[in-house]
Amino acid sequence: MIPFELARPRSLKEAIALLDPEDPDIRPMGGGTAVMLMMKAGVLRPTRLVSLRDIEPHYAQVHAGENGELRIGGLTRLATLEHSPLVKERWPLIARTLRTLSNVRVRNVATIGGNLGHADPHMDMPPVLTSLGARVTITGPYGERIVPVEELCTGYYETVLARDELISEVIVPPQAGRPAAYMKVTTRAAHDWPALGVAVVLDMQGQRIGRASVIVGAATDRPTRLTQAEALLRGALPDDAILREAGEAGAAQLDIVGDPHGSASYKKQLLKVYLGRAVRTALAAASGHAAQFEGHA
Ligand SMILES: Cc1cc2nc3c(=O)[nH]c(=O)nc-3n(C[C@H](O)[C@H](O)[C@H](O)COP(=O)(O)OP(=O)(O)OC[C@H]3O[C@@H](n4cnc5c(N)ncnc54)[C@H](O)[C@@H]3O)c2cc1C
Repeated sequence: MIPFELARPRSLKEAIALLDPEDPDIRPMGGGTAVMLMMKAGVLRPTRLVSLRDIEPHYAQVHAGENGELRIGGLTRLATLEHSPLVKERWPLIARTLRTLSNVRVRNVATIGGNLGHADPHMDMPPVLTSLGARVTITGPYGERIVPVEELCTGYYETVLARDELISEVIVPPQAGRPAAYMKVTTRAAHDWPALGVAVVLDMQGQRIGRASVIVGAATDRPTRLTQAEALLRGALPDDAILREAGEAGAAQLDIVGDPHGSASYKKQLLKVYLGRAVRTALAAASGHAAQFEGHA
């Protein structure tokens, strides 16, 4: 391994000052779970890592905001989020998703900022946070800007972040009891990387779906909104015929890319089936009926 400097700033401001907008070899590090793997694989050879571990503790905390939104500091560990009573009670979709995101060792150190900053299209949280309408606060040398999670990823391992900007907070609107589910389809263990991930959040009007937010992960180079499926579900009674049609429309919309977890045609077939299952699971969870939350192909 090529020697590198490990900087341990004590504040977010100091951390930003240690980054360089022109130098891709200077990188921030949250939990380091992805950074270390990239270094071992030789795809990242940093000259300086800026560890965020020692910055102000409030960046590692979770609380409810004035308008009932969830405010997650960018350095919050995934395990903190998973076990937060606030998250379990008011954002059960997030708490449930985290249970099968990798293993407890990773969740104990990985941070939400690192999770979103990594921009691997197979990650579980980006589709879930997008379906809930979450935003990130991005802090850089010139101040803050707020960007929807939906617009954060621009491609494989690429984001709108400048090299000297950090995700300092994630803001999630209230789930407000809306039916919601994330179907993580894996080919091996339940906590493995997904072959496909489908996140669904529904606004119900009586028995009908008023509005559906449907986001798919692990299928293309970034989490993608299935607009045609959403249009079909709007105003519909969620019966077998419409769910099948929505699944077909979702699969037709995407130019799916195959990977070691599944071929493009396999993922297309999974999407056709699991979009409907996600809607049914969301409705079952909201009505308190036993529901299946993970998928195994
Ligand atoms: C064995 C294993 C299995 C896994 N399985 C899954 C899985 O099933 N599902 C899943 O979703 N994920 C999975 N992961 C990925 C895991 O979720 C990520 O590695 C983790 O969330 C990254 O967080 P981190 O804090 O460790 O990021 P780091 O490794 O510290 O950083 C990741 C990237 O984000 C940048 N970064 C770090 N912090 C910030 C910040 N605050 N602002 C901006 N950029 C930042 C870094 O420069 C780097 O480019 C797995 C990982 C491992 C090691």
